[in-house]
Amino acid sequence: MDIHEYQSKELLSRFGIPIPRGGLAYSPEQAAYRAREIGGERWVVKAQVHSGGRGKAGGVALCHTENEVYETADKLFGARLVTEQTGGTGKVVYRVYIEGAVSIAKELYLGLVLDRTAERIMVVASQSGGMEINEISRTRPDSIIRSVIEPAVGMPVFQAREIAFQLGVPLALINETVEVISGCYQAFEQLDATMVEINPLVVTEEGSLFALDAKMTFDDNALFRRPDVAELRDKSQEDPRETRAADRGLSYVGLDGTIGCIVNGGGLAMATMDMIKLSGGSAANFLDIGGGASPERMAKAFRLVVSDQNVAAVLINVFAGINRCDWVAEGLVQAIRRDPVGVPIVVRLAGAYVDEGRRIISQSGLPIIHASTLAEAATRVVKAAQSANVANDVSRLIKP
Ligand code: GDP
Ligand code: MN
Repeated sequence: MDIHEYQSKELLSRFGIPIPRGGLAYSPEQAAYRAREIGGERWVVKAQVHSGGRGKAGGVALCHTENEVYETADKLFGARLVTEQTGGTGKVVYRVYIEGAVSIAKELYLGLVLDRTAERIMVVASQSGGMEINEISRTRPDSIIRSVIEPAVGMPVFQAREIAFQLGVPLALINETVEVISGCYQAFEQLDATMVEINPLVVTEEGSLFALDAKMTFDDNALFRRPDVAELRDKSQEDPRETRAADRGLSYVGLDGTIGCIVNGGGLAMATMDMIKLSGGSAANFLDIGGGASPERMAKAFRLVVSDQNVAAVLINVFAGINRCDWVAEGLVQAIRRDPVGVPIVVRLAGAYVDEGRRIISQSGLPIIHASTLAEAATRVVKAAQSANVANDVSRLIKP
């Protein structure tokens, strides 16, 4: 789970990370009011969306008057910010953060990530932070500082100190930088994060240290034991298809093809998508119904998959062990009877209660295409999706 910049800053400040004075606004009036509260003569108005690269996309603006803060916020609210990370559809701005501006002398990069290969938390840092960090990591990878944390030891002060020196901060700021690095590690560890990123971490003209931007990502599987983190979730920033599924206890991944997939188990999902690709198609999504799915659960899953506008055909591929093919078939038939669908459906069932499952489908009289192997199912669904697409195009042509 991702959270907003202002939320990350609030959490990190509890671990001793210095942040500029700031406040959140839900309207332009509130934004101007926040600026007055903060005081000073310059403010930075920042769109709160779950994405980096806001600076380059017009989501971060330096303002010199309260009126300018108002106008900038007014433009941002309700706008769809398209950054290099959001994809074409972008993300809508509902919250704006106002901060007292600081004069930057140097922008540094500090990140902590879960390195899955090393099975350790790794500190990644660079003397050249700010908006060019991706460029730097590509063109001068050797300049990136990396330091792996031993889980049994945690982060000893000498390790943080070594990183601080490598970052080249002024000597007077070494201790404070050490505290920032250690604080980030504490926050990472104690809040079950998978990423903590401060970019830029700045040294100001006046010689102080501030986190100007902060980003945190959390382990979804640990949220149950971190209620204060879980409540920071902002569904307006997530793929609505995935949110709806998660709320129903289903695990759903949205993709950009045309075939909706319902499977059981992650491995089968991968194999199914590979077979679809091999047959010349591509998946619009995949939904994992998990083990022991009841007919009701299957019906919910089906409705969710067909509610995606991009779906031109559906493939249901279930290899039942803990599951039962008859329950899957029952759920499917229920769902279609209640709410008929306009897209072709291909079903491949195998495993427990397969004969019963097939019988339920054939006796239902519904136009469901049956396949006995995955290869056959994939070929059929790709063909079905292609002709469905052609039919759609033709009906679009015919319509005035
Ligand atoms: P991002 O583009 O989404 O990563 O947003 P950031 O919060 O990192 O802001 C982008 C850039 O805006 C930073 O790298 C800074 O150069 C600049 N910026 C942000 N806050 C301030 C500030 O208080 N003063 C000044 N002068 N620049 C700022
Ligand atoms: Mn940034």
